Amino acid sequence: MDCIFCKIVNNEIPSIKVYEDDRVFAFMDINPLNEGHLLVIPKAHAATIHEISEADFVAVTSATHKLATAVKKALNPKGINLMQLNGKAANQVVPHLHVHIVPRWSGDGLTICKWELTAGDMEKIKAVGRQIENALT
Ligand code: 5GP
Ligand code: ZN
Repeated sequence: MDCIFCKIVNNEIPSIKVYEDDRVFAFMDINPLNEGHLLVIPKAHAATIHEISEADFVAVTSATHKLATAVKKALNPKGINLMQLNGKAANQVVPHLHVHIVPRWSGDGLTICKWELTAGDMEKIKAVGRQIENALT
């Protein structure tokens, strides 16, 4: 499969590895949004949240927790953004699931968390909440 992150896991493309276990691989992003920007991925290929197994997602989440703790200890950021994009419509570029760990400092100039907040229609919010709740199996 022609997947750049699978190639990184298999050492066919070099990377700056920071962490590895039986299910997870973590490495430095080559276009860092900030100092210490890391990517945490499952070793088994899965494009998005819809393809990854629950066990692999739990393993990625657990490694993300470990790595965020290490980032705090190593770099002492004042905040950390975790981002995980699924699908082109959500701006995912590399179709192998990954969690971004982005250390943040006040005034670092990043705008990724500037969401415009607009009050929603409570009836609509309630109806959509119920729709999702009913879809849980
Ligand atoms: P996405 O938009 O899919 O969530 O982000 C993909 C990320 O992968 C980007 O932040 C990009 O810099 C990173 N990336 C893409 N290709 C490579 C690569 O070959 N090596 C590393 N280390 N990071 C990569
Ligand atoms: Zn892959």
